Amino acid sequence: MSIARSMLLKAADSPWLARQMSQRAFARRAVRKFMPGEELEAALDAAQTLAAKGQGTILTQLGEALSRPEEAVAVRDHYLDVFHQIKGRGLPAWISIKPTQLGVDQSLDACRDHLLVLAKAAADTGSSLWLDMEDHTYVDRTIELYRALRSRHDRIGIAIQSYLYRTPKDVEALLAIDPWIRLVKGAYKEPAAVAYPAKRDVDQAFFEVAGQLLESAKRGKGLPIFGTHDIPLIRRLIDRAKSLGVKQGQYEIHMLYGIRAAEQAQLTGEGETVKTLVSYGQAWFKWYMRRLAERPANVWFVMKSMVGG
Ligand SMILES: Cc1cc2nc3c(=O)[nH]c(=O)nc-3n(C[C@H](O)[C@H](O)[C@H](O)COP(=O)(O)OP(=O)(O)OC[C@H]3O[C@@H](n4cnc5c(N)ncnc54)[C@H](O)[C@@H]3O)c2cc1C
Repeated sequence: MSIARSMLLKAADSPWLARQMSQRAFARRAVRKFMPGEELEAALDAAQTLAAKGQGTILTQLGEALSRPEEAVAVRDHYLDVFHQIKGRGLPAWISIKPTQLGVDQSLDACRDHLLVLAKAAADTGSSLWLDMEDHTYVDRTIELYRALRSRHDRIGIAIQSYLYRTPKDVEALLAIDPWIRLVKGAYKEPAAVAYPAKRDVDQAFFEVAGQLLESAKRGKGLPIFGTHDIPLIRRLIDRAKSLGVKQGQYEIHMLYGIRAAEQAQLTGEGETVKTLVSYGQAWFKWYMRRLAERPANVWFVMKSMVGG
């Protein structure tokens, strides 16, 4: 892991820095590169604009760690409202949630109950529900939650990280339940005991696990999603899909709002199914630091915003 990436991920955990940055106008200006606005309305408007260009959207509210169970209820109710607004506006939009936002640290059972309510709302509104993957200490619980949801609903997905050594085995086990899997490289600061420290190994693991998913899609099982901005890697996977006879629409490509927008449009124009993950909410600091860590050159962008550029 590069020193810059490691420092930015460490800074993400500083409550002091979070307070400082959240109040600074330059930081709010810089964060606009990655999110259309703090309010849900801004995210829904962005989804509408993307829909007009043929791209679907995944919406997620950025949240703080919870301290009381009632806060999870408020988050659940917020997302229930979002499903209804998606339906009201006729948007091709899904919702993705971090289990910690629904109180998994406080109670796994209550978190499962909240997710089941949301999974039903997703089904009733023609949308779908996704589970984000957080650091490695959450993987077992997130997979357990996914299995509980998947046993009752079809349109449910889970993010899986290629940097974890355990991932090929997790994917093999999940394939039996016909999963929707969003494969990502992984955004957290993980120890070498659980995750590849070198980027080239993470990239290679991504290609191999994506191959595992495409082989399964060829047999009619599972929906592979490539959640990455790594265009050469995406091109190699599109070629792999073609050679296996897995058609466009039997896999998808998801990227984040504000990153590689031109390539998102180009891939859509080529007939690929592309969706954009749009974040909103006030608690953007940690999430934003992870975006900077993915590409430390982005720090220059923040510095330009400091001087009003
Ligand atoms: C739809 C989606 C959902 C995700 N969900 C999760 C999740 O649930 N759990 C999780 O741990 N991680 C998640 N991530 C983040 C992911 O793990 C990576 O940290 C992130 O995608 C950066 O890696 P990359 O695959 O784009 O490849 P990289 O090899 O890091 O980047 C490829 C190229 O993309 C561009 N790029 C990448 N990131 C940025 C950036 N921040 N700013 C500007 N350019 C950039 C650069 O040009 C870079 O050269 C998600 C990512 C996406 C796209």
